[in-house]
Order: sequence, then structure tokens, then C-alpha cells
Amino acid sequence: MKYDCSQSVKAFRHAFLSIWTAFILTFNVGCFSLNSMGQIGSSVLEEISDINIFTDEEELKFGQAFAEQHAREVKFYTDPIVTNYINNLGQELVKRSKRNNIPYTFNVVDSKEINAYAVPGGFIYINLGLIHAVETESELAFVIGHEIGHIVGQHSMKRLTQIYGLEILKQIILDEDSNKLTKLVADILAAGLLFRYSRDNERESDFYGVNNVYDTGISPEGGISFFETLQKLQRRKPTALEKLISTHPIHSERITNVRNQINELPKKSGLRTNSSRFKQVKRRIR
Ligand SMILES: [Zn+2]
Repeated sequence: MKYDCSQSVKAFRHAFLSIWTAFILTFNVGCFSLNSMGQIGSSVLEEISDINIFTDEEELKFGQAFAEQHAREVKFYTDPIVTNYINNLGQELVKRSKRNNIPYTFNVVDSKEINAYAVPGGFIYINLGLIHAVETESELAFVIGHEIGHIVGQHSMKRLTQIYGLEILKQIILDEDSNKLTKLVADILAAGLLFRYSRDNERESDFYGVNNVYDTGISPEGGISFFETLQKLQRRKPTALEKLISTHPIHSERITNVRNQINELPKKSGLRTNSSRFKQVKRRIR
């Protein structure tokens, strides 16, 4: 009988993945930090985190699986005046982003929580609560630009690669049996692994966000006023901000960086802060 080595390797990988996922789920990834893996492990992981390793098609397939799973978990807001507006604003920003060669999908989630998030492969979600909270279109554009920035920087893909390993992830994404991908995606979402961004990720996304809105012809000052709006809301109703703050902490360093970046941009006239469509949407959801 011929010994099929690839089957053993597959079995080993499967067992490793199951144990690793179980470890993460059992101990909650909050306990899992790069620092705890020691200096050598950290430097290796940092190197891995900067390698662009998935093709757009692979990332899209991965993201599609997340989007399908997420669509079963949340309720979407479907008023076309609002969803078309968000999609148009999003696509306007995408055109001027650093990664505009992949399709982007914008969804409005019917949730009061002030939050926005991005899933690999160009899937971006804006909670209704966030549209309620922002005071100008430029604030909203900065948030969307920031989320596009997470897709540009492939932050979630890099993070998941650090956790699971490149080969294992690729193998599951490319496997003809989609059940494995569905199971992995459900585990990742349940463990909250998708939106655990590092400070560097946040810094990079803020940087992309500011440039993106500016290049689109929207005032980058929305980046500063959005943080101010959040700080006001944090004092008034902190619970509405819990999720956003947990994934996007507002460090004073972030505000300073955004301010410095805006100050260095060449002065440009005609940058818009608001639009009649934004005001129409705000009236609509009131
Ligand atoms: Zn972020």
C-alpha cells in the first residue's frame, strides 16, 4: 500500500488548527499577547505581519465567508435613501484610496451602538448609531476612510496569519470543502479575533483616512472633530461607545498625529464639510 504523506500532513494541520482554535477560545485571546511569546517570537511575528501574503481573490473569498456569517448575526438597515448615500460616499472614497482595485461593499447595520468596522475583502459596516452620532459629513467620511484604511493595510489578514499561520489559513481558504472555512470564520467571530487592531494598525488607518478624505475633496478636519464628538458622547452616554472604544481606543496620540498630518497637507480650497444629502439622511433617521 502506498503511504500518502499529504494525508498525514493534512491530518496534522487539522489537529493543530483545532487545538490552537480551542486554546484561543478557551483562554480568550485577550490573554494572548505577542509580548507573552518572548522577544524572539515577537520579532518573527512582526516580520510576518508586514508580508503581503494573500492574493486579492483569496482575501475576497475569506471576506465573503465572514460577510455571509455576519449577515446571519445582524439586522441591516434597508432605507434606500440612507444605504445609497453611505454606498455613494464609500465608493467616492474608495476611488481615491490606496487599494481601489478590489470591490467594496458598504452595509448599514440597524444598531444604536456607535460603531463601524471592516472585514477583509472590502466589506465595510456602518452602524446606524454612528450616523446618528457624527455631526458633519466630513466626520463620517473620516470614519469610512479609516475603515477603508484597515482594508488597505490588510490588518485583519495579517493578524489572523500571526495567529493561525499562513499555510493553514491558505489551505482552508482554498479547500473545496467550504465547511472548514465556515467553521473557522464562525470561531474567529465568536472569539472576537477579527477586530483586534494594534496601535500601529490604528495609526496607519488614521493616516490613510486623513489622506483619503483630503484627496476626495472632503475636509480632513472631520478627523479632529470626530474625536471631539466621541469625547463629548463618552461623557454623555459611555455605553453607546463601548464597542467602538474597545476596538478603536482614542489615545491622545491619535488626535495629535491626525492634527500634525492635517497641518502638513497643502492648503486646498473648496474642501467640503457637509452636503445636502448628508443633512437629508440625518433628518431621515431622526
Ligand atoms: Zn480602526
